[in-house]
Amino acid sequence: NDRLSAVDPEIQQAVARELDRQQSTLEMIASENFAPAAVMEAQGSVLTNKYAEGYPGKRYYGGCEHVDVVEQLAIDRVKALFGAEFANVQPHSGAQANAAAMFALLNPGDTILGLDLAHGGHLTHGMRINFSGKLYNVVPYHVRESDFRVDMAEVEALALEHKPKLIVAGWSAYSRQLDFAEFRRIADLVGAYLMVDMAHFAGLVAAGLHPNPVPYADVVTTTTHKTLGGPRGGVILAKEQYAKKINSAVFPGQQGGPLEHVIAAKAVAFKLAATEGFKERQERVLEGAKLLAERFLQPDVEAAGITVVNGGTDVHLVLVDLRNSELDGQQAEDTLHRIGITVNRNAVPFDPRPPMVSSGLRIGTPALATRGFGATEFTEVADIIATALTTAAGTGTLVDGTAVELRARVTALAEQFPLYPQLSGAPEI
Ligand code: PLP
Repeated sequence: NDRLSAVDPEIQQAVARELDRQQSTLEMIASENFAPAAVMEAQGSVLTNKYAEGYPGKRYYGGCEHVDVVEQLAIDRVKALFGAEFANVQPHSGAQANAAAMFALLNPGDTILGLDLAHGGHLTHGMRINFSGKLYNVVPYHVRESDFRVDMAEVEALALEHKPKLIVAGWSAYSRQLDFAEFRRIADLVGAYLMVDMAHFAGLVAAGLHPNPVPYADVVTTTTHKTLGGPRGGVILAKEQYAKKINSAVFPGQQGGPLEHVIAAKAVAFKLAATEGFKERQERVLEGAKLLAERFLQPDVEAAGITVVNGGTDVHLVLVDLRNSELDGQQAEDTLHRIGITVNRNAVPFDPRPPMVSSGLRIGTPALATRGFGATEFTEVADIIATALTTAAGTGTLVDGTAVELRARVTALAEQFPLYPQLSGAPEI
């Protein structure tokens, strides 16, 4: 018996418990999703055994005839999905996609413009101790304090002043759409490359529910596991003119052998993302986020000093602003964790609290939409969260009775939408 349960019961048990956690709680981390069984089947396949340095048709190893089919399908599908001229599907993660894209276009010491981490940017857009902050001269741009929207006048002024070689448009914690045409105009004004990191909103783009950055950007990077709902991984899309540079930046520039089992899973996810069912799911993602924002803007929430950053959302997440509440980000995250809702605390722009505590929550709808949630369930979960946060606002925690009541409402929702029912019962704990 070489099953996991026999070979390594400690790992098997942790996996079984994680399955139970995912099934019995409500996942609202904006960057998470549930990969379909077909995606996990491809990822758990024999392709994990294969070395395939190089690219389809040009490998440094023998026996690549089948993984070539896999990788070419992934490339063709993602190009068609986003209307891109070129795709590299090998980056192991979003961070590695960004590292390779920058490696392809920049030299160490070049100047890049990126959204400040504290204002919703990603680590790889220029954080001080990330590779991006260490290798490149980073000039951060910001959101405006008046409306918490990206300040395009500042982007233009900084671009004119610092003449960056690359402008990065993209975010990890921002609830509005970026103006790609305006970013393009500013990039052209100073001769900069434009890179859009659509990791968070790629699923919305694939569904045609968010502007597509591909026509505007020189390079577009993404993860495949957030709104796209595939396996953990990264992709680089680009204009054909950058194909050679990007391919050699990924391999041999940044990586060795590609993860063909993950690339197979990416291919499956791209196929699914082109379906009507996927589009319908992304519509529920957006509707759910709007319902959350609406609920969090009601007077009872406002009375607790809690509001929504920039007054709403156009995407799959809502940023809750706790700056004027006694409840801090850590307490809010813990409060929701206690009743079975998983979110992450997040600094909000102009946050007076330290990053480890923070004054914000980032709450996303993709995972629950995948689970089947529609307007009725998102309305209910919005009310559960609003009740939990407003009740905890005075003391920083919930009294036991309220916690039990809210946990029961969470459990009812979770049971109404079984997750991975085919996996239930299989693991022996
Ligand atoms: N880019 C953005 C905008 C992200 O939000 C993230 C992840 O949070 C990444 C890149 C990095 O992706 P990964 O965690 O796969 O390295």
